Amino acid sequence: MARVLVIGGAGYIGSHVVKALLQSGHRVCVFDNLSTGQKINLFDMADFEEGDILDYTRLSEVMSQGFDAVVHLAAKKAVGESMENPNKYSLNNIQGSLNILMTMADNNVKNIVFSSSAAVYGMPEYLPVDEKHPVKPINYYGFTKLEIEKFMDWYDTLKGIKYVALRYFNAVGYDADGDIKGKEKNPQNLLPIIMETATGVRAEMSVFGSDYDTRDGTCIRDYIHVSDLATAHVLAIEKLIAGMPSAVLNLGTGEGTSVKEMIEAAERVIGTKINVKYADRRPGDPAVLIASSDKARELLGWEPKYTNIDDIIQTTWNLER
Ligand code: UDP
Repeated sequence: MARVLVIGGAGYIGSHVVKALLQSGHRVCVFDNLSTGQKINLFDMADFEEGDILDYTRLSEVMSQGFDAVVHLAAKKAVGESMENPNKYSLNNIQGSLNILMTMADNNVKNIVFSSSAAVYGMPEYLPVDEKHPVKPINYYGFTKLEIEKFMDWYDTLKGIKYVALRYFNAVGYDADGDIKGKEKNPQNLLPIIMETATGVRAEMSVFGSDYDTRDGTCIRDYIHVSDLATAHVLAIEKLIAGMPSAVLNLGTGEGTSVKEMIEAAERVIGTKINVKYADRRPGDPAVLIASSDKARELLGWEPKYTNIDDIIQTTWNLER
């Protein structure tokens, strides 16, 4: 049993990580400023400390409770916004993460699992993308994630803080038991937008680009179920505590699904037509992004359980019914 501080534990991915940790018998404390995280996502079995990673005193106070590991998921994650308002990302993502590393060093907390992103790679030069692929982010959000990985590496060298950076591909789905109910507000990602269109929150949705060099002309992504992501965090903590050296790991399924295929799958699951219009390409979108997660399989013994896109979409649709 480990005592784990989950920073950002009231958010979409964080709440799934908290559930997975509790199910594996760990003790969990959630630290969250509830800016995008929601109280409805909290579990009775986990402690909750409200606070902001930019409030150094408050963060230090909670960190001084003593933890075996930290999971850090507190970040801004809208790619477009990061290009228009880089200061917000410098502050929340970079300064916030530095505060976490500094308070960990001060309080002798030795392990961290960090939510990184496929955005660190930029435009893929080959597929599937493995961890040896060059890292050349093409947006400021991806740059912040990469810089934090580098800070963690220095804190490993200088302060003996071991880390696992998990580079998520496209996180989708919800807890299959329905234990996590907080829908993200103003979603920017494909599947929540499909859901909003299906339920009439939006009159129609746009498919960004239909002239890509792919099997149906729309972009292909690697959609990984959030509960499979969550499992990887638990395994990473357990391995770090057992002495595994720091590592950077991709998390994806290795399977690609196109935007059109996502919409068709959602139509099958929901049983209605989704109102779609074909629009221009979105700047910065690669045609295809697929992960090689062999390293996570090898080092963590991790295996995604969800392989069928209809099953994954069903877990999101369950929230609407
Ligand atoms: N996409 C789309 N319409 C939308 C939102 C997204 O066609 O309203 C496409 C987007 O261009 C990309 C894929 O869906 O090819 C996944 O986008 P998302 O923003 O969910 O994740 P990203 O791959 O950018 O991290």
